[in-house]
Amino acid sequence: MLMTEEKKAVLQVDNLSIAFDMADGKQTNVVEAVSFQVFEGETLALVGESGSGKSVTSLAIMRLLQMPPACITSGKILLNGKDLLQMKLDDMSSVRGNEMSMIFQEPMTSLDPVFKISNQLIEGIRRHQPLDKKQAFAIALSMLKEVGIANAEKVIHEYPHQLSGGMRQRVMIAMAMANNPKLLLADEPTTALDVTVQAQILQLMLKMKEEHGSSILFITHDMGVVAETADRVMVMYAGQIVESGPVEQIFTDPKHPYTKALLQTMPSLATNERRLPTIPGTVPSPSNFSAGCRFSPRCQHAMDICDRTIPAESSFESGQIVRCHLYKEKEVAAHDT
Ligand code: SF4
Repeated sequence: MLMTEEKKAVLQVDNLSIAFDMADGKQTNVVEAVSFQVFEGETLALVGESGSGKSVTSLAIMRLLQMPPACITSGKILLNGKDLLQMKLDDMSSVRGNEMSMIFQEPMTSLDPVFKISNQLIEGIRRHQPLDKKQAFAIALSMLKEVGIANAEKVIHEYPHQLSGGMRQRVMIAMAMANNPKLLLADEPTTALDVTVQAQILQLMLKMKEEHGSSILFITHDMGVVAETADRVMVMYAGQIVESGPVEQIFTDPKHPYTKALLQTMPSLATNERRLPTIPGTVPSPSNFSAGCRFSPRCQHAMDICDRTIPAESSFESGQIVRCHLYKEKEVAAHDT
């Protein structure tokens, strides 16, 4: 990977806020003032529990959010400098599957059960490349081989239901990478697979990223998956980024209490625990967000100020950025010197 100073942002998200119309008629922010960049060639993991706003963020990037009830209330999403939120929806179809692609947890979200794999791959390739059917078929077949599908000559003529879950996810990766996208968004792509297949699919995604010169925004709730795939990590809680930084720092010196709690839910070979700890409580619904730190009802370190005041971000030399009152004094001290 290139050094930080030389890296170019493929994706830049600036101050993105997304609101939803609620049952009581009010509009509530479910993603608030989120900013980040995905650099050329890197894998950035967006991690958090279910309900934290990760998938809403990724769907907004793809312009796949249903609006209404969703509404983007502020921000920019730049893909290679192009503001996706300013593009007409018709023009977005030339970006999706071409400049950026998405892989979902359930491949059948994207695979059409009534069409053979060949038709679906060929259609996706010809939508973005001026090729005849024979040429597109040749690329489709070579992509199936590249993603490790044994007997690809036979599989290409099959229907999605004839394939195992792992094979369907390989087909999805072949479809997503067929037009050499600069950015791949992967939303829990291995959650539905068993552990052995999960490891194979993660390795395959990293291999494809290297070979096709892409970047990955990896959305997951699983810190084990983060450890295996990411260069950098952003931890999201209740619609806000609460900590971000290089993967080594996040794992060796997590700072935010939520990041620490997430790491404690990872299986450890050392302790050989049969039952994994969970984080007490649940992510609050947007209408119940605290006026201060949104993690305060579940935080073991909560102080009086936490319920009342929104914590500011503190930056560390390690590259970590943390939103927590525990670090306020350090931040002030750093600014004073
Ligand atoms: Fe816990 Fe307070 Fe930090 Fe929030 S701001 S994570 S409640 S210590």
